Amino acid sequence: MLKEILSGSDCAKCRVCCIFDRTDCWEIPLVEPSLAEYIKREYPDVKLEKRGNNSVFISEFDENGLTVCPMLTEQGCKLGDKKPFDCMIWPFRVMRKENLLLLTLSPVCETVSKLPVKRISDFAAKIADTVYKAAENDPEMVKDYIEGYPVFAVRTAAEKPE
Ligand code: SF4
Repeated sequence: MLKEILSGSDCAKCRVCCIFDRTDCWEIPLVEPSLAEYIKREYPDVKLEKRGNNSVFISEFDENGLTVCPMLTEQGCKLGDKKPFDCMIWPFRVMRKENLLLLTLSPVCETVSKLPVKRISDFAAKIADTVYKAAENDPEMVKDYIEGYPVFAVRTAAEKPE
């Protein structure tokens, strides 16, 4: 989804968004029910745990306090175009602040963060409807806003899900 601003080769070189420490566990992607079924079928050794309607990957933290997504290989993500929506749109995120849904950009992705703001902003405008629609269909994908994350689009939120 982000190929226009982020090449597969840049992602394969970096992979920072597929490795997590204890402070950014909230970034571990949500796996949609249909994708969870696919993973259980194709990768029966991969551990998934239900998180609301979705699931998350479960893997151990290593001695450096890092946990690596089990779908990550030297060549990139095993799931290819089937990867979770959270991963499809990363480093963009939908975040909630009060009654607003904000389309934000994670500063962790150095490649996208280095692009001219206008380019990011034009691209964000292009994907905003699709991303907000996904957030509306699956409110669990909405994260709490983190101060300092740049905001590229704003919508009014529906009622907060229980
Ligand atoms: S599912 Fe793929 S893209 Fe998403 S965190 Fe895991 S390896 Fe990375």
